[in-house]
Amino acid sequence: GLQGQVAIVTGSTSGIGHAMADALAAQGCNIVMNGLGEMNAIERARAEMAETHGVEVLYHGADMTRPIEIADMVRAAKAEFGELDILVNNAGVQHVAPVEDFPEDKWDLIIAVNLSSAFHATKAAVPIMKEQGRGRIVNIASAHGLVASPFKSAYVAAKHGIMGLTKTVALEVAQHGITCNAICPGFVKTPLVEAQIADQAKARGISEEAVMRDVILASQPTKQFVTFDQLNGMLLYLVSDLGASANGAAYQIDGGWVAQ
Ligand code: NAD
Repeated sequence: GLQGQVAIVTGSTSGIGHAMADALAAQGCNIVMNGLGEMNAIERARAEMAETHGVEVLYHGADMTRPIEIADMVRAAKAEFGELDILVNNAGVQHVAPVEDFPEDKWDLIIAVNLSSAFHATKAAVPIMKEQGRGRIVNIASAHGLVASPFKSAYVAAKHGIMGLTKTVALEVAQHGITCNAICPGFVKTPLVEAQIADQAKARGISEEAVMRDVILASQPTKQFVTFDQLNGMLLYLVSDLGASANGAAYQIDGGWVAQ
């Protein structure tokens, strides 16, 4: 079981990351919570997770655009809990605009948060996991790690990039009891998706209702959002002992999106 294991989940103050941290805590993992937000709300979420599941939850505010802070977060996990078993690289941001209008600062931000942060965290975590002879790295990519959609040049580039990182790291750690995999979700109803409905409407010149119907759920054959629990099922498999031979792979949890 996962009782007493230690997991870092980046971007776990909201959405998928919060749900994943909570699912790992429910299995008895001590958690390093990370992400942006209002300090009182973060402290409430941290205390609630610890209380509900009877585990230790440490918040580390590393900004995923800052390599030194990311390395410090990994060091803090090891210093506080004595080990690091699971790293979930989940933090992510989105911006939707045609490539010719795409702001340079948004490109740089998305590449930093959605791709480079996973490199920095992995670089810091692998020596600890190699020393233990045990570890699990799970990158939260996207269906957009495998296929594209218009107006998301930075996001699709970053998510395709993380697929390459996943495969390369998987090969390097394979003989050390460590695995590195990617989960590729379809659309999940989180603040990240809700925020882009308005942006998509503007970029395409259509109503928000039309975006929901013709853009968002149009690409998802089930016509249903993917749920947190459905993603957590894959996460818990990958981090378990049963997941030992799952390595360097992309797990599509997308209602059939990428099958099209
Ligand atoms: P969200 O906006 O609810 O959560 C994003 C998290 O990342 C938050 O905790 C936020 O604080 C954190 N974050 C953002 N910038 C950060 C920074 N600079 N430093 C530290 N933390 C930062 O979004 P979500 O939908 O839960 O997305 C989580 C991951 O899942 C992302 O990588 C996203 O690309 C991916 N994903 C989401 C969907 C979806 O439909 N929601 C689909 C596929 C993949």
